[in-house]
Amino acid sequence: MSSSRTGKLVILSGPSGSGKTTVVRELLELSEPRLELSVSATTRPPRTGEIDGKDYHFLSPDEFQRRKAAGEFLETFEVFGNGYWYGTLRSEVENRLQQGVSVLLEIDVDGAMEIVKQFPAAVTIFLSPGSLEELERRLRGRNTEPEETIQRRLAAAKREMAAMEKYKYQIVNDAGAVNETVQRLAEVIQNDSGDDA
Ligand code: 5GP
Repeated sequence: MSSSRTGKLVILSGPSGSGKTTVVRELLELSEPRLELSVSATTRPPRTGEIDGKDYHFLSPDEFQRRKAAGEFLETFEVFGNGYWYGTLRSEVENRLQQGVSVLLEIDVDGAMEIVKQFPAAVTIFLSPGSLEELERRLRGRNTEPEETIQRRLAAAKREMAAMEKYKYQIVNDAGAVNETVQRLAEVIQNDSGDDA
């Protein structure tokens, strides 16, 4: 059952290198569909330029576990490959949905499946770089990361892409066609009726 007064819960996953960050930024600027981002909590330290409360709620490991024990999260995950904890806070999601505001979650595949158990009407979308070969090309093209990091990202991507079929929608983000990808995402989100796949 989906009520027209309830906001949609949109879950977007995809490997690092799929262009997710850019796509999410542009998606949030659209007026239709109007989406608000759920800011996750993490124990990973902020990267240069990241702002606490905007990119993530940056928490110490103790604070993260305290909030976890207090039931403040809808899901938590120690993300494969980097050893840090990430989690979706109830406070970022529940009230908004009840008020009719649609919420975007940008989370990993394990977190996504955990959320779907609680919100079966969630619109789940996997953003794919096309193929692992294409992803490798993009990661190497950045030319900024050591080989070890590239290998770790590729292993994580392989694992994430194996879960792609569990998502209701799979969208390929072609390099250089971000606008088309954002348009596709907008259509899929607008047209989804909240029924099971
Ligand atoms: P990054 O450290 O690069 O920002 O994110 C690493 C991974 O953590 C990404 O795949 C991202 O989608 C995932 N992630 C971010 N927030 C959450 C969250 O709240 N829950 C889960 N399960 N994964 C998250």
